[in-house]
Amino acid sequence: MQTLLRMLYPPRCLICGGLVESDFGLCAGCWRETPFLSGLACATCGAPLPGESEREEHCDACLASPPLWRAGCATLAYRDNGRTLVLMLKRGDRHDIAAAAGPWMAARARPLAGPETLVVPVPLHLRRHLRRRFNQSALLARGLAEALGLDWCPDALLRIRHTPVLEGRGREERFRTLADAIVANPKRAELLKGRPVLLVDDVLTTGATFYEATAACRAADTGAVCVCALARTVKDT
Ligand SMILES: [Zn+2]
Ligand SMILES: [Zn+2]
Repeated sequence: MQTLLRMLYPPRCLICGGLVESDFGLCAGCWRETPFLSGLACATCGAPLPGESEREEHCDACLASPPLWRAGCATLAYRDNGRTLVLMLKRGDRHDIAAAAGPWMAARARPLAGPETLVVPVPLHLRRHLRRRFNQSALLARGLAEALGLDWCPDALLRIRHTPVLEGRGREERFRTLADAIVANPKRAELLKGRPVLLVDDVLTTGATFYEATAACRAADTGAVCVCALARTVKDT
């Protein structure tokens, strides 16, 4: 069956559509042009750091004001093909991108997860969800949970206020806009109590969304919260 499917639908590159050898998602050319974050990174926000280290390292920003969550990671820099993939996923209903991204994210997120960890997407407001028909973070959470062999819950968190699109807004404004916008779903109280949580979002910019989602988890008495983003903005060096 698998072989027949492959003959009928040979795997194609997620970005250029060219034929690819494996299910890994990208052709060799697009792979080379995709900014995977593979080296040393800040243990809380996933920002790339120079050099190598045996220890857990943190960026200056996280040392100055540690995030609410315990640890975090990101898979791609949010530029070039990293940005292209996120935008294709967000705008194009591209479930295949989320499926391929699951193992990519798992490679970074595995040390943050234990057997009891619950994978939880950052929620979209219902109105935006209806317009877009799907929550890209939920697709990523499912892909990641499958790759890690963990449970996931698409509606563990809810966005109770409609918030404007954050793109292009400054740090202060993002935090202000999102304040108290996210809560734990009362129907999932049992599931969340004491459970370590791995939050998933498509892009980490200032961390405002993860901050609110982590605060909602804490209010629901979850275990430790870690975060994983498909991509993160990276300062030019
Ligand atoms: Zn390609
Ligand atoms: Zn950091």
